[in-house]
Amino acid sequence: MGLEPLARSFTSKQLSRALAGRRAPVKAAILDQRRLAGVGNIYADEALWRSRLHPLRPAGGLDGEEIAALRRGIRAALRAGIARQGATLSNYRTPDGGRGRMQEEFRVYGREGEPCERCGTPIEKMRAAGRGTWYCPSCQH
Ligand SMILES: [Zn+2]
Repeated sequence: MGLEPLARSFTSKQLSRALAGRRAPVKAAILDQRRLAGVGNIYADEALWRSRLHPLRPAGGLDGEEIAALRRGIRAALRAGIARQGATLSNYRTPDGGRGRMQEEFRVYGREGEPCERCGTPIEKMRAAGRGTWYCPSCQH
């Protein structure tokens, strides 16, 4: 398994090393469990929106500020998911039988056509890393 994004030891330097030299889209890179543990499709989209990074940016081409933003975005997205007890998929239930509330917290995932809460541009959907990918075409560069 790869780096643990919620570990205190997860630094921008480590993330930078994990992405260095990679021409793969940043979305594919952060989904790669050999590099980063525990970032699934939903959290990848949410993290990239928070980081203002376009999902198709080459992973190895991010500068220091972008790497730092990505690190913060990944951690914030994972923490939000944990705080909301996970994403509600059709059959998801918390241990006490309730539904998770993460789906109400998504900024981009599954929100095609809805306005970006940061800039108002409609969220778009495309395929990246072979997965459905939601992003803001205006504020994710
Ligand atoms: Zn936006």
